[in-house]
Amino acid sequence: MPETIKIAYLYEDLMNTYGDSGDVKILAFLLKEQGYDTQVDNISLGDNFNTFDYDFVFWGGGQDFEQSVVAKDLVRHKDTIDKYINANKPMLCICGGYQFLGAYYETSGGETIKGLDILPFHTIFKADSRMIGDTEYETEWGKVRAFENHSGRTYFDDKTMLKPFGKMIEGYGNNPEEGNEGMRYKNTIGSYSHGPILKNENVARAIADKIVISHKERMAATAK
Ligand code: GLN
Repeated sequence: MPETIKIAYLYEDLMNTYGDSGDVKILAFLLKEQGYDTQVDNISLGDNFNTFDYDFVFWGGGQDFEQSVVAKDLVRHKDTIDKYINANKPMLCICGGYQFLGAYYETSGGETIKGLDILPFHTIFKADSRMIGDTEYETEWGKVRAFENHSGRTYFDDKTMLKPFGKMIEGYGNNPEEGNEGMRYKNTIGSYSHGPILKNENVARAIADKIVISHKERMAATAK
């Protein structure tokens, strides 16, 4: 019997813009190659969950309206997500999901949506441009090509703790000024890349390997 890798997809029904749910499908395919089945649980409004029941947590992008709905629900999960991230467990957050790990997101409509405030960054809106188009950037795992579409501009409040996920070659990434894409902290990645990002096999394989390690750790912990 193949072992089952468990993935929590946060608010899958509300946050899955521009092909983001494809990230989870690509991971399931790569994990199958390594001999694992995959179970994906949609953790949505009102659901309780413990991150440590999972090997990987995924969070996709969302429109501002859906983000304002999710923001009211997600505070309940702050503690379990914080502990999971700080325990070096793997997590991938795209666009709106990425913004939610920070302190807040100011929308184009003038609303300030509170984030989980787990990591030291914030996201603001400026009227001059929406960041939309193809992106290309260099990461620790090689080049990534993707697509971005966001009005939020993300800035790190602690540049020692957080590292950019990539250096822009084409497109905006976090904001128009800094030439950085996304965020790395321990085994958590935040990124503005849709398309989905994991069509970039180099990144997908690196994350799949982290998920297998995380699964083995969880199995060892439950066996005790
Ligand atoms: N609504 C957010 C923004 O415009 C995130 C967009 C997204 O997740 N695609 O910045």
